Amino acid sequence: MTKPKLFIPGPVDVAPETYSAMAGPAIGHRGADFEELYASIQPGIRQVVGTSRPVFFSTSSAWGVMEGCIRNLVKSKVLNLCCGAFSDKWFGVAESCGKNAEKIQVEWGQPIDPEVVREKLSEGGFDTVTLVHNETSTGVLNPLKEIAEVVKSFDDVLLVVDTVSSLSAMPIDFDLMGIDVLLAGVQKAIALPPGLAVFVTSEAAQERASSVHDRGYYFDFCEFAKNDEKNNTPSTPSIPHLYALKERTDAMLNEGLEARYVRHAQNNAMVHSWGEKHGFQLLPPEGYRSLSLSCFVTPENLDQSGWIKSVREKYHLLINGGYGKIKGKTFRISNMGNETSATMQQLLDALDAELPAHLS
Ligand SMILES: *Cc1c(COP(=O)(O)O)cnc(C)c1O
Repeated sequence: MTKPKLFIPGPVDVAPETYSAMAGPAIGHRGADFEELYASIQPGIRQVVGTSRPVFFSTSSAWGVMEGCIRNLVKSKVLNLCCGAFSDKWFGVAESCGKNAEKIQVEWGQPIDPEVVREKLSEGGFDTVTLVHNETSTGVLNPLKEIAEVVKSFDDVLLVVDTVSSLSAMPIDFDLMGIDVLLAGVQKAIALPPGLAVFVTSEAAQERASSVHDRGYYFDFCEFAKNDEKNNTPSTPSIPHLYALKERTDAMLNEGLEARYVRHAQNNAMVHSWGEKHGFQLLPPEGYRSLSLSCFVTPENLDQSGWIKSVREKYHLLINGGYGKIKGKTFRISNMGNETSATMQQLLDALDAELPAHLS
């Protein structure tokens, strides 16, 4: 069966050039060839993250590093900012790591209010805050800059930010914003096949980690920092993914990061006006809408699963029918990665063609 091209919000479609890059030669990871590859990726990926600090490569999906953040950083108590499937789960992960955890929970589709974060942190006792920048399950873009300012105003509280579906789709400035850990899996906004995560840590995060005794080994931030000094990783990494990351960051810089952000904003706006034309409501409120995906509320008179199935079978294009507890009640369209106005138009045309047959 022909596999559909993915317009689901991750994993996303991968460019043929990226796959070709992955077929690079086998090299030993404790040798000069690897060190050269590692070092060659740094300037590009640091620019994408907005940092002069090293970017670490974890052979895992994003959750590996997300759990790692909890294990490396939380000593007294973590505050999890919960507004959808991924951010909610982070609270559960903190508890399953045996940590003291509290959460601020907002309704799915709503953003996190920085003032509520300030109030909660004022109670005292917290040393870490987790935030999902772009909540992929609901299409909410949280006010990162404002939340970072609030967290920074509290001494010894570290801010951990998941940018899985926003990194490289919009500007994020790790150094300027004063984030302590930023992480992303590569299969969404960066458009690599799944299997690698990238992350950056602040000096304060490294200091904290070095004072935590049961941080484990595979995601130990101190191991990552120590190995980075030799342009290396703690354990054997997925070298094909690093070839691919080099290829994609080169492509990003070639396009120009600003141009890339503009392309994402324009393609996203295209999907929004398409939705407006059909009277589809976006789930998040104005001002808090993702730039890399669109999450619409499913109208009562739409046979959503039949519609998605027809588009997949006839056009080999796939969108997503909602995630977690809003599955079937929402649908999501990704414009992450390498999509252009032409490929987005192709998708919208196919959705249009199949829509009337599934409306009642
Ligand atoms: C997909 C996603 C994750 C989880 O990624 P895995 O690759 O499954 O570990 C975490 N956070 C966000 C925002 C995501 O979109």
